[in-house]
Amino acid sequence: MIDDHINACIITKGSILALGNSHAIEIGHININFAGIDCYCGNQGCLETHIAIPQILKKAQSIAKQYADSSLNKEKISINDFCQAINLQDPIAVDILEKVGRQIGNTLAVMVNIFSPQLILIGSPLNKVKNQLFPVISKQIRQKSLPCYQNNVSLVATKFNNEGTILATAIIKDALYNGSMLAKLMAG
Ligand SMILES: [Zn+2]
Repeated sequence: MIDDHINACIITKGSILALGNSHAIEIGHININFAGIDCYCGNQGCLETHIAIPQILKKAQSIAKQYADSSLNKEKISINDFCQAINLQDPIAVDILEKVGRQIGNTLAVMVNIFSPQLILIGSPLNKVKNQLFPVISKQIRQKSLPCYQNNVSLVATKFNNEGTILATAIIKDALYNGSMLAKLMAG
């Protein structure tokens, strides 16, 4: 899930992998910048401090302040404004989305090396611009993970794309593609 928080779950042989009391893999707290800003988890520079939706909007707004003609130069912006700016090829939004895609791709490349999944499902409000985002993520996975593990990985958007309440990024391994759990996940 890429929303206010970033996390994932692993589905293997039709079941969600349990991790103690939780199913969530807290990939949002993987460090991607040792000199980064403080995260509520106590560390600095976590993935979440860079690519959670509020952080993306904050960054877009702060850069757009310097560009009077940017569609993002206004008092408050929403994720829909940001996605619309991507569709209008606003250079600020495009640049931020590419960086976000590379950061997600780097993290997923690690997951691919660990789990060798068949399918990665992504749930996010950013799925509205998946045609621009997913190629960046896929390219990064191809560059940063072991070739023998990445060959069969597909990146797919879940159909729910805006609710921050569902654990919606799934790394799927040994799942039945037309199994009921997968159908349920895809349907939201
Ligand atoms: Zn953190």
